[in-house]
Amino acid sequence: MKNPLSAEILSVGTELLLGSTTNTDARDISIYLSELGINVFYHTVVGDNPERLTKAVEIARERADIIITTGGLGPTCDDLTKQVLSKAFDLEMVFHEELAEEMKRYFKEVIGVDTMTENNLQQAYLPAGCTVFHNEWGTAPGCAFESKGVRVIMLPGPPRECNAMFKACAMPYLRALSDEVILSHSLNIVGSGESAVESKLREIMNDLVNPTLAPYAKEGEVMLRITAKAKSEEEAEKMTLPVIEKVRGVLGDIIYGMDVNSIEQVVFELLKEKNMTLSTAESCTGGFIAKRMTDLRGSSEVFIGGAVTYATESKTAVLGVSPELISEYGVISAEVAAEMAKQAKALFNSSIAISTTGLAGPEGDGINPVGTVFIALATDKGVFVTQLNSGFGRSRVRTLASNCAFDMVRRYLTELPVVVDYHRR
Ligand code: ATP
Ligand code: MG
Repeated sequence: MKNPLSAEILSVGTELLLGSTTNTDARDISIYLSELGINVFYHTVVGDNPERLTKAVEIARERADIIITTGGLGPTCDDLTKQVLSKAFDLEMVFHEELAEEMKRYFKEVIGVDTMTENNLQQAYLPAGCTVFHNEWGTAPGCAFESKGVRVIMLPGPPRECNAMFKACAMPYLRALSDEVILSHSLNIVGSGESAVESKLREIMNDLVNPTLAPYAKEGEVMLRITAKAKSEEEAEKMTLPVIEKVRGVLGDIIYGMDVNSIEQVVFELLKEKNMTLSTAESCTGGFIAKRMTDLRGSSEVFIGGAVTYATESKTAVLGVSPELISEYGVISAEVAAEMAKQAKALFNSSIAISTTGLAGPEGDGINPVGTVFIALATDKGVFVTQLNSGFGRSRVRTLASNCAFDMVRRYLTELPVVVDYHRR
């Protein structure tokens, strides 16, 4: 087959068209396919309707080497993906006794019922000659086959099953199509926009063919992915190293990690390594920093607690910030942020504490522009304060301010300058 391969993801389900379910399967599969070096050129969504699904398959087979379907493999009458695909590729449906047995076992051992309804057996029929993808996470098996120059992979709709089956079954199947190994590393950045990062790296990116370097952005964060194709993993690894070094040379300490999940994960690991603890005093972030910390498994080792002191009075009542300080500098000020962090550190008896006070909007306060946030970090070596202008949108303010707070902790714990201008990088 020609390289690189191209894929089309064909998601089946009326609920996706109605907007009641978000097509997370297509997103997740796209991410996995990019890891495999397979280009995704189309995402198609079609309802549970045999005529329209047939049409969508006819279009997809003309423009993709690989068609990956999601959904419609189950036992109910609207589940018709296998039937339609088998017909479109002139394949018989064959009954698999062992799949029926697996299903019975699943019902008995996982669901806890001795009998399963007859319609479940429909799931044991698969296109003749296919590679069976056993479903250890649910009932509907998936499969893969090649017909008329096209590879077809069918996966169940429930995201947990779809993801697990892709990783366990489809990944090895697709890897085997190529004799090359694909390896990638990611470099993660907060506090810098995608366009700023891209413009700094444009020259390097333009010169690269293998490995490739590509930026991916989500709110307040940029991920750079370096992907190499080679005959062996070692060779691919070797190819990525100089690119990683070059990128590090250009971007420096704004990179918070390589192949890591999130900035809070990095902070968590650093705190653990240094045997230190953290607490929070949050105003405009409304507990979001504490939420992100406590999303991490084992966070109780390092996270002591937090206070959401939203109303001005609560900053005094809970944290003991003096009303005089608040009236002198204003509640949204570097001084109040610093005092909140200092008081939280004492209140929770933690090694360090972070605080936020800012204006999430949309209404202004007549003094600060909407999106102004002061973030303070109290430590044994003093208090550091950063001023951020995160722009409009309450959720954006929360995300950017919490990223910045975690980044300040990261910088402190790795002995970098704690206060930087996030608007100039
Ligand atoms: P089941 O055996 O559960 O019937 P199935 O393969 O037939 O699985 P569907 O019936 O299409 O899948 O969908 C099952 C569930 O998975 C539904 O709750 C649906 O909302 C969800 N789902 C289906 N497709 C997607 C998708 N592309 N992204 C996210 N969720 C999806
Ligand atoms: Mg179904």
